[in-house]
Amino acid sequence: MRRPLVAGNWKLNGSRESIQSLVNGLLNGMSQVNEAEVLVCPSFVYISDVAKQLEGSSIVFGGQDVAKEEVGAYTGEVSVAMLGDIGCSYTIVGHSERRALYGDSDKIVAEKFAAAQKGGVTPILCVGELLEEREAGETEKVVERQMQAVVDLVGVKALEKAVIAYEPVWAIGTGKTASPEQAQEVHAFIRSWINKEDASVADKVRILYGGSVKAANAKELFSQTDIDGGLIGGASLAADEFISICVAAG
Ligand code: PEP
Repeated sequence: MRRPLVAGNWKLNGSRESIQSLVNGLLNGMSQVNEAEVLVCPSFVYISDVAKQLEGSSIVFGGQDVAKEEVGAYTGEVSVAMLGDIGCSYTIVGHSERRALYGDSDKIVAEKFAAAQKGGVTPILCVGELLEEREAGETEKVVERQMQAVVDLVGVKALEKAVIAYEPVWAIGTGKTASPEQAQEVHAFIRSWINKEDASVADKVRILYGGSVKAANAKELFSQTDIDGGLIGGASLAADEFISICVAAG
């Protein structure tokens, strides 16, 4: 039985004040959430504030990215030891915005994945195709390439202590959601691809869907066999909407 996970990726949004009120809203709404594990990923700057506010609650927090290096002269980077030090349980790696805008190649993403695991923080590995790749019938090839880079570096067993997020790039922040059938098809492909190497890992690993998930479409997406929750961008910035998504996952 895979416990559903709903993760909010707050990206480059918020201020001290707005984040405090967002977290208050989440804390108030948590009594409605029965089953799902709830995770928020604020900007690095605000993680410690959020951690303090979440003390005693079941909401966990994490990073939006992590350095592949452990320590040293890497200006602007945040290490896994730092994330662990302030209590992060998870970190996103390979988000499509990092891949497209900041040069995170498959190899770099795999190194970040490895660094996170080595430091005891669970990586959420984002994979997904561009619109032109989907239109060219290359979705599975792209997702396989992104997954393979990680498996080549750390082995398939490492996926047991990780989360995968399938995020079709054309659905992120666009309002265009993959249909539940389109999403399920790729989730099933990912699980069967892992299953070829290790059935027990395939059975255990949680695969989240991300891409314009909102309260109105969450239930249908999350009811698909191989969808174990969501990675939520825009809709995670409104407490009521995000809580409704978390409820839908349970
Ligand atoms: C994301 O950035 O991971 C994401 C899924 O964003 P949105 O929900 O806004 O499409």
